[in-house]
Amino acid sequence: MNKYLEQLIELSNLDKEIDDFAPRIAKVEKALKLSLDKEKELKSQTEVFQADIADAKLKKAKNEAHLAELSAKLKDFTKKSALVKTAKEIKALQLEEEIAKEQCDFANEEIARLEKIIELKQNSISALQEKIAQAAAEAEKIKETIDSQIQAIEEERKNVYKAKDELVSDMSHKILTFYQKIRKWAGNSTVVPVKKQACYGCFMRINDKTYASVLKQDDIVTCPHCGRILYKEIEEEKA
Ligand SMILES: [Zn+2]
Repeated sequence: MNKYLEQLIELSNLDKEIDDFAPRIAKVEKALKLSLDKEKELKSQTEVFQADIADAKLKKAKNEAHLAELSAKLKDFTKKSALVKTAKEIKALQLEEEIAKEQCDFANEEIARLEKIIELKQNSISALQEKIAQAAAEAEKIKETIDSQIQAIEEERKNVYKAKDELVSDMSHKILTFYQKIRKWAGNSTVVPVKKQACYGCFMRINDKTYASVLKQDDIVTCPHCGRILYKEIEEEKA
């Protein structure tokens, strides 16, 4: 086979491998991201419950302050009732006392209701904290495995770059420029095999003369339709 063609095939394979590293790493990192997102979501849920508890506690404190006022007022009524004389005055005082007692009942009910809310939310937080701990442990485990996976990929990447550097330093500048010009638009399909007398870049059938040149492998042949570099399909690719 033509030496330049051989180099071009190898270079295009190395470039394909290089382009493949980023998606490979992204795929590995995605599992970790999903796990960390889950942990974050659980934490933000916890914060919502904590805000609800703070709110309920504030309302509870207000009700307790109100209750203290009412209880002082009720004590006052006992003193006042000894002083009032007329039936009208007694009736007015009784009415006021009744209202105060009703308000006391209401405040107590509110406090009980708020305490229940606080308890429920606290239970929810405890459950969430357990889930957060689980998610964190899971993320840690994933991180460990992906660290070694990424390390292996990085090692591979270093080797491929080294192989490419060596190859490029060995190649003719003219051939390299020719390749890079096609690669600009053809990307990873710059150098393609010919199968069943068709270019595997544009999938168009090539004429007999071009096909014969491809089979001979003496020259660098480009597709007459798209301009990609062509090579004869090798046995492994049939399998
Ligand atoms: Zn073509």
